[in-house]
Amino acid sequence: MTSTYTMTSPDLTNKTILVTGAGDGIGKAAAMAYARQQAQVILLGRTQEKLEAVYDAIMAEGLPEPIIHPLDLATAIQDDYNALGEAITSQFGKLDGLLHNASILGGTSPIQYYPAENWDKVIQVNVNAVFKLTRATLAALQAAEDARILLTSSSVGRQGRAYWGAYAVSKFATEGFMQVLADELGNTSNVRVNTINPGATRTSMRRAAYPAEDPATLPTPESLMPAYLYLMAPQSQHLHGEAIEIRELLARINNDVASAN
Ligand code: NDP
Repeated sequence: MTSTYTMTSPDLTNKTILVTGAGDGIGKAAAMAYARQQAQVILLGRTQEKLEAVYDAIMAEGLPEPIIHPLDLATAIQDDYNALGEAITSQFGKLDGLLHNASILGGTSPIQYYPAENWDKVIQVNVNAVFKLTRATLAALQAAEDARILLTSSSVGRQGRAYWGAYAVSKFATEGFMQVLADELGNTSNVRVNTINPGATRTSMRRAAYPAEDPATLPTPESLMPAYLYLMAPQSQHLHGEAIEIRELLARINNDVASAN
């Protein structure tokens, strides 16, 4: 039987992929993209109606039925994450992909005036929740044949910038978390861990950060999906412990697709 697998349309049949922040923006596009490649998606987010709208869109296309898991990462405790990890293990026996996508901006301000409560909330959602969810699902990821943890970074997580406060620091922590975990798992692990910087993208977070910008000038979340698919697909097995720039990866994928035609 010939494989229909390509760089931009990997076969994700029988794979279970958990996406945080799946109700909007990049996370919503990723959940739809994985489902379109036949993955069963676990939609985690804080706004139930948004998750239900993604559920409905997936079902309307006749794709594998997703699971909705409403959870507020700002208030969730380790027990909540453990319960999710245990439910995944008992229902599927494994987890093939974990996309840490949910984040909050927390506002921009000089450090001297940065509201302490905003700081705590950003670190809670963008860093502590990532640790707790990873900790709770790692056994399920290790039970999969070929699993991925993909963490979402930002350009301000690779080079600090004035006024980006806790958000920038949280993205540096994301890079650090990825490096520590990748090193612990080692190069022969079946769980591959990387970060991706999606770059400026047409979402509500970007609008909040740059209110004067014309959104029409920005790439849509959907246009990033070849990279998000590739990073969950068997073809990205060689990538581990890498800080990935989406523009470079998309250019590589486009080149490979062009030379294959
Ligand atoms: P959006 O704000 O559009 O979407 C973020 C998602 O995260 C929403 O679904 C939101 O839920 C969810 N979320 C936020 N807080 C919580 C919480 N406490 N508990 C559960 N879910 C929560 O962001 P983007 O799509 O733009 O961003 C996605 C990722 O990409 C983020 O990690 C961001 O840092 C990163 N990024 C984005 C860039 C851009 O230009 N857009 C640039 C660089 C990085 P709800 O809708 O219910 O609020």
